[in-house]
Amino acid sequence: MIDWSTLPSVDRVLNMGAVRSLVADFGRTRVTDSVRALLAEVRRDALRGKQWAPDALQEEALVRHLSARLEQSAKPRLIPVFNLTGTVLHTNLGRALLPEEALRAVAAVLAQPCNLEYDLDSGERGERDQLVEGLLVELTGAEAATVVNNNAAAVFLALNTLGLRKEVIVSRGELVEIGGAFRVPDIMARAGCRLKEVGTTNRTHRRDFADAITSRTALLLKVHTSNYAIQGFTAAVPEAELADLAREHGLPFMIDLGSGTLVDLRQWGLPAEPMPQEALAHGADIVSFSGDKLLGGPQAGIIVGRKELLRKIRKNPLKRALRVDKMTYAALEAVLNLYRDKERLARRLPTLRLLTRPLEAIQAVADRVLPPVGQAVAGTAAASLRPSRSQIGSGSLPVDLLPSVCIAMTPLKKGKGEGTTLKRLEQAFRNLPTPVIGRVADGAFCLDLRCLEDEQPFLDQLGALKL
Ligand SMILES: *Cc1c(COP(=O)(O)O)cnc(C)c1O
Repeated sequence: MIDWSTLPSVDRVLNMGAVRSLVADFGRTRVTDSVRALLAEVRRDALRGKQWAPDALQEEALVRHLSARLEQSAKPRLIPVFNLTGTVLHTNLGRALLPEEALRAVAAVLAQPCNLEYDLDSGERGERDQLVEGLLVELTGAEAATVVNNNAAAVFLALNTLGLRKEVIVSRGELVEIGGAFRVPDIMARAGCRLKEVGTTNRTHRRDFADAITSRTALLLKVHTSNYAIQGFTAAVPEAELADLAREHGLPFMIDLGSGTLVDLRQWGLPAEPMPQEALAHGADIVSFSGDKLLGGPQAGIIVGRKELLRKIRKNPLKRALRVDKMTYAALEAVLNLYRDKERLARRLPTLRLLTRPLEAIQAVADRVLPPVGQAVAGTAAASLRPSRSQIGSGSLPVDLLPSVCIAMTPLKKGKGEGTTLKRLEQAFRNLPTPVIGRVADGAFCLDLRCLEDEQPFLDQLGALKL
């Protein structure tokens, strides 16, 4: 049994010299709470018959315990990681990395007042969209633009504004689901629109749309099938034809582009992704796309299109609920500004820089990083280089497209223990101060080096790897 007389009081612990220095670091309330929690744990364990060694209750041990507890609870939950999964725009790892220009712009407006909704010319109340509308209009050729929380919000807001209690016509081949939570039929229902599906999964014709238009129709909608492709015997109505049809009936035509890109990616040998400027040129009245997919900016949903429709969208009370913060405007403005200098874009915009990274550069990193990684996992796994394929991510097709190099760590133990070793490797890399996220493929734990631009911090922490 524990000798209760040796269990110090909360006050006595708080007055220990080393604990006083913890108070200086973490504040009295938090330290007091931690001391109470620790002593309660000792008592609870004692009542359950689990003994703490007497010296665990000595000053030194108690202080060690407390400071570990406090440090653990003070650690931020949102931290940087190394994305070596091979997926450049990884939704779970925060999608696009922002350029320096955006970081500076965000920092500049965070700790000081800024003209978020203040017109510096007139001294009157301004409209926050005007901060980026000019740039979006310049880059896409649209008449007007607005920004909301993400593209899901953009689609939701546009549908709710233009199609409330009316019908929205969509091809059956485009009823997409993105990452489980964004599903066209569900968003449509929540936006208060009635979904009218037309055509079939693989083929939809102009007459399918034409036959479906009635006095209840509010909108024709096209959704970019970002994360899948329908191949074989297929037919879709070209955008320009749908735009014509909509115009004939006095209806707006909207396209949800998903990722959307403001530059033709084919110039770097990347697959063509639809561009908002093209969609508008084809006659779309409203186009929406993400800020943090191929655009390479902050999380945002961008809506561009006709002035009259944008005016309605801005007046929808939900716009207020879905609006974005000054951080987003600052970052988005800086990123959009980079698009004005097309020649240097691929060097300055991290997303594009990573997607266009030459294989030789990746190979060179791989050659330098392999020996230290091999050493760090020696005894557990054999490390070697493997050709691999990275992907754009965030729904851009095709997958496994960009030639890359990965370090493959193959467990030394074959057979039964192999899976456990792979799990241990993954966990050990995730436990590093800056967690390293890779993927398991073909019996190895793989680190794709496309996204490792600054290898020194990666190498510096390898010594801490605990297998
Ligand atoms: C990604 C995507 C969305 C959702 O965009 P978020 O910015 O992630 O909200 C909507 N529609 C399509 C077609 C997409 O690809």
